[in-house]
Amino acid sequence: MQRGKADSGSCSRLRLCTFGEDHGSGSRGTENRPLPSPEPLAPMIPNISVTFAAAVRAAPCVAPGSSLRASRGRLGIGSGRCAAKAVAAVFHEVGKPMELREIPLPERLNEGELLVRMEVATICGSDLHTVSGKRQEPMPLVLGHEGVGVIERIGSDIFSGNRPRHRGWKLQEGDRITFSVADSCGMCPECTLHKLPQKCVSLMKYGHARMSEGTGLNGTYATHVLLRPGTHAVKLPSTLSSRVCSPANCALATVVNALDMARLPRYGSNKSAVVQGVGLLGIYAVAWLKKRVGMDSVFCLDMDSERLKTAEQFGGIPLLVTGGEEEFWERQRFIHKHYPHGVDVAVEMTGAKNVIHEGVQLLRNGGHYSFAGMVHPDSQLSSLTGETIIRKCLTIRGVHNYTPWNLEEAVKFLDEQREELPLESVLSPTSYALSNINDAIKEAFSGRYCRVVVNCQDVF
Ligand SMILES: [Zn+2]
Ligand SMILES: [Zn+2]
Repeated sequence: MQRGKADSGSCSRLRLCTFGEDHGSGSRGTENRPLPSPEPLAPMIPNISVTFAAAVRAAPCVAPGSSLRASRGRLGIGSGRCAAKAVAAVFHEVGKPMELREIPLPERLNEGELLVRMEVATICGSDLHTVSGKRQEPMPLVLGHEGVGVIERIGSDIFSGNRPRHRGWKLQEGDRITFSVADSCGMCPECTLHKLPQKCVSLMKYGHARMSEGTGLNGTYATHVLLRPGTHAVKLPSTLSSRVCSPANCALATVVNALDMARLPRYGSNKSAVVQGVGLLGIYAVAWLKKRVGMDSVFCLDMDSERLKTAEQFGGIPLLVTGGEEEFWERQRFIHKHYPHGVDVAVEMTGAKNVIHEGVQLLRNGGHYSFAGMVHPDSQLSSLTGETIIRKCLTIRGVHNYTPWNLEEAVKFLDEQREELPLESVLSPTSYALSNINDAIKEAFSGRYCRVVVNCQDVF
C-alpha cells in the first residue's frame, strides 16, 4: 500500500518544481484578467509586495534554475518556490470590502493534514448571502468553499489515527484535488451509524470558520487552504480543467445527494421530473436527471429566461414562470398533457416556499420530492397538508450538503460528461485575480454567470 509522502518539515523540491505545469484551462483567463479595480486593494495592505517577496526569498527551498512565470502568480507562488506565507482575502464586516492579508504557512503539518495550494475558487451564492448580511458567519473569516488546488504538503500520517480519509493512501504531493466542504470526526453516530458526516458533532466547514480557528486558512479565497484530517479529498482526472471542477464540491455534490439514485422511486417509470429553479444547482440537476438517471423529460421552471436557456443546453425543457394563477394552470395542463399521472420526481432549488404547492400538484402518486433550496427560516410549508402527502403516498426528502461518496460521484459525472455538456458555459469566461476579489464578488452579485471564477494564485 502506498502512502502519501511524509512531511519532512520543509518543502519537497522535486515535487514542488512540477507545480508550474498547466492543468488544462485551470489557469485560463489569467492573461485576460479584468483590469484592476479603480480602487485597488493595495492601500489596505501597505508593503504587501515587499514583505511577501521577502518571505519568498527567505523560504528554505528554491528550486534551482526555476524562473518565475507571470501566469502562475506574481510573487513566486506556484512557480517551483516554497512560499512561507499565504495570502488570503479576509472578510471583516458586512458592507466592507475584503482585505488581503498574509498568513504564515505552518512549518510542520499535524498528522493527517494537507496543505493545498489553491488554483481556482468559484463564488457560491451562500458567500453572497454572507457578504450582503443575509447569512450570519463568525467574523473575521476567509470565505469561499468551492475550489480546486494542488497538494503542496502532507502531514505525517494521512490516515490520521482514527480518522481514515477514504482512499487517502492514494494521495500524494502534487496531486490536484477537490475536497469536501465539511470536515468530520469519522467516529460519532452521525458519521458512522447515520452516514451523515456533514452533520458530525464536531463539524467544521470550509469558508464558514473564524480566522482564529487553526491557522486561519479555512477558506478558498486564498492562495492556500489547510485541510484537516477528516476532510475528504478527491484526486481530479487530468481530462478536466480546474475551472470546470471548482463548483463540484458544493453545487454538483449537493445535486448528486439530492437526486441519489438509490433513493429515487424504485417502482414505476422514473421518466419525468420537474426542477424548480435553475441556478447552478438546478442546471446540474437537469444534467444529472437526463444523463445519469436517464429521464426522458425534465421540465425546468424559473423566472429568468437567460438561466432557462442554459438549462435547455443541459437537456431541460424550459418553462418560464412570470407569476399569476392562469399561467400556473397552463403549466399544469402542459405537463399533464405529456404525463397525465404526473411526474416521478420534483426537486426544489429556488429557496422559495411558494413553489411547493406546484411541485406537489405536479407529482404522481408515489412521487419523490427533494427539498434543497430553502435553507433559511422563511420556509414554512403552510400550503402543504399532511393529508396530501399521505393520500399521494409522497416521499419528501430534505437534503443539506453531501457525503464524501457524493463528491466522488460528482467528479466522475463531470469526467463522463465533459464532451457532452457545455460545462464552461456556467462560468465567467475570465478568471478574476485573487487581488481583485471584491470586483469578482461584484460580478457575482450581477448574476450574469452562475459562477464567477477566481484565480487564487494571481496576487499582486
Ligand atoms: Zn456553496
Ligand atoms: Zn463525526
